[in-house]
Amino acid sequence: MQSYPPVRAHTLYQNRAGEGCAIRYDRKRQKARQTLWAGIALGVALALLAGALHRLYHRAWAETEVPNDCFAAAAGDVNEPLPRYVCLTFDDGPSERTGPILEILAQQQVPATFFVCAQGINEPYLPLVRQIVQQGHQVAMHSASHKYAQIYQSTDAFWQDIKTLRQALEPYVALADLAWLRFPGGSTNTVSHRYGGSGIMQQLKTQTEEKGWHWIDWNVCGEDATAAHPDADAILRNIQGDAEGRDTCVVLLHDTKAASHTVEALPAVIDWFRAEGYAFCTVAQLAELQTAAG
Ligand SMILES: [Zn+2]
Repeated sequence: MQSYPPVRAHTLYQNRAGEGCAIRYDRKRQKARQTLWAGIALGVALALLAGALHRLYHRAWAETEVPNDCFAAAAGDVNEPLPRYVCLTFDDGPSERTGPILEILAQQQVPATFFVCAQGINEPYLPLVRQIVQQGHQVAMHSASHKYAQIYQSTDAFWQDIKTLRQALEPYVALADLAWLRFPGGSTNTVSHRYGGSGIMQQLKTQTEEKGWHWIDWNVCGEDATAAHPDADAILRNIQGDAEGRDTCVVLLHDTKAASHTVEALPAVIDWFRAEGYAFCTVAQLAELQTAAG
């Protein structure tokens, strides 16, 4: 999903007084009448479409906290129950947790999206990115260093970090497939303001879209990497609480060493979403579904 360019009033038809021709007058008037009726018909059609979209929006998406990407409207009969989708997303890997997570996803036949890092403790595990791709999951950009003080120093510093990340991933994934980004701390983080000023996230979001890439946050959080180290049951409860009432869930989890109970929680998380009637997809697949439907 991406933002659309603003609609511009680029075609203003004007009368050019003094250039009229008597012979062509009737034809012109007839043409004007046809244009008027076509305009009215188009106006009615647009009004109906806007009404339907408005109704859909308030029914399913007005409450979501995921900006931009999850706002696209799905189509279909408004009286039919909408399909429910869940994207499991894993941030800050790869690490020693990534292998066990991939095993569970393979057993359960569930696709996921991995927003990866590349430096420090992640570096020795980078070859796992190839396995992530081979198993049909999506690899996406997070940050090479994940150090807020560095990456949010300026927009140039941020894109330098992303360049480093892409170079590190190049042996394992086709660069053209790396089109999605999740900003460390999320797109509404305020920690970045300390380093790059209060406008930096807006600038980065705009620049991401200018590059033809997409960014996405989350609307369901397992809180699995918090200092409290919640156990598997608590992670599931966090997810259930956030997912309540949502037809589209983008779940934030972590495949880092610090997320010590995520592997244990994952089978129950998958079982719960399945029982609730959600279909699993990657972030890119969700965007395609929403584009196709909307
Ligand atoms: Zn992160």
